[in-house]
Amino acid sequence: MVTATNVWKSFGHNEVLKGINLEVRRGEVMTLLGPSGSGKSTFLRLINHLDTVTAGRIAVDGDLVGYREHSGALHELRPKDIARMRSEVGMVFQQFNLFPHMTVLQNIMEAPIGVKKEPKARVQERAERLLARVGLSDKRNAYPGSLSGGQQQRIAIARALAMEPKLMLFDEPTSALDPELVGEVLDVMKDLASTGMTMIVVTHEMGFAREVADTVVFMDGGVVVEAGTPGDVLGNPREERTQAFLSKVL
Ligand code: ATP
Ligand code: MG
Repeated sequence: MVTATNVWKSFGHNEVLKGINLEVRRGEVMTLLGPSGSGKSTFLRLINHLDTVTAGRIAVDGDLVGYREHSGALHELRPKDIARMRSEVGMVFQQFNLFPHMTVLQNIMEAPIGVKKEPKARVQERAERLLARVGLSDKRNAYPGSLSGGQQQRIAIARALAMEPKLMLFDEPTSALDPELVGEVLDVMKDLASTGMTMIVVTHEMGFAREVADTVVFMDGGVVVEAGTPGDVLGNPREERTQAFLSKVL
């Protein structure tokens, strides 16, 4: 579903990603961990067209991110292709970024109606179903400001799912939450994983990684230091840098 091949990303002279090779298969969950500044968010942003690669390639479900190939040459994507590809990937951030002036239901329905031009009745039915799935049907007419952080993040997940994405990206979705609210968000993510959603999750929630991830990736300094099963990378890391990092976060 996602194939990154020798991906480099620089900001000016700052080389942030230095040859990332990763593959996430359909239905798999990959968790990314690593110290601050190691390039985790940058990698997610590239997958979702929020930034462009300096070198290398990322493909999502066969679509090259940022470019299209024609007669052996690469061309810039047209805005409408970028919009289409972006609509197929859901992203959830540390900060929930809900629209404060819209109700919960309006937040969830906005993109399918505004971006995909889907009929309102169909979108509303889906939104209600998603609300039930994240356990917040009773909040349908509430405004985000009246909800807890955990509830807002569950709405943000429902909002992303309303676009029926084929891939979900999570960038530290629980790190802005009070500890007692982390579990309810992780439960929604676990449920999503069990339905076969392909997910890339930047998180330092080791319990989640252990239980849900097919692959755990440890990044440091813009490279993949170690990747493997949770049992290998978390339970029996080969690299000293991984061991040192884990000893701090576990
Ligand atoms: P954290 O755990 O703190 O979220 P991270 O692994 O997500 O860290 P990134 O946010 O990807 O790290 O940042 C990696 C490096 O890229 C940092 O040195 C950062 O300053 C730099 N960087 C990220 N975005 C930009 C940008 N838009 N312009 C310039 N530099 C950037
Ligand atoms: Mg980050």
